[in-house]
Amino acid sequence: MYEISVRAAFEAAHFISGYNGKCSRLHGHNWIIEAIVRGENLDSLGMLIDFKILKAELNKVLDEFDHRFLNELETFSAENPTAENIARQIFRKLAASEIFSDSTKLFAIKVQETPNSCVTYYE
Ligand SMILES: [Zn+2]
Repeated sequence: MYEISVRAAFEAAHFISGYNGKCSRLHGHNWIIEAIVRGENLDSLGMLIDFKILKAELNKVLDEFDHRFLNELETFSAENPTAENIARQIFRKLAASEIFSDSTKLFAIKVQETPNSCVTYYE
């Protein structure tokens, strides 16, 4: 079994509705996203998935969030844009990509909200 990962980042604003504290106020983050893929079968070049292709797919998903006010997006119309919900939404959107197969699948999405705070989502 192989496990590969790529990282990308996006910057955006959000607030946490109903939260008792500073995070209830509008503020921003530079979220760092890590996509982790697992699989057993390498292609003819010896790659699970080309890092470049995986990163491009991740960036396509992150384009929806980059330099946006996350609370206003349709994606977060029914839930707060917490790091947990951001991780699940990115997982679901990226997992639908045709670069994955029955043997090579998206395993997890890590969302780092601050240097010391990180969420991992997997199914
Ligand atoms: Zn925040």
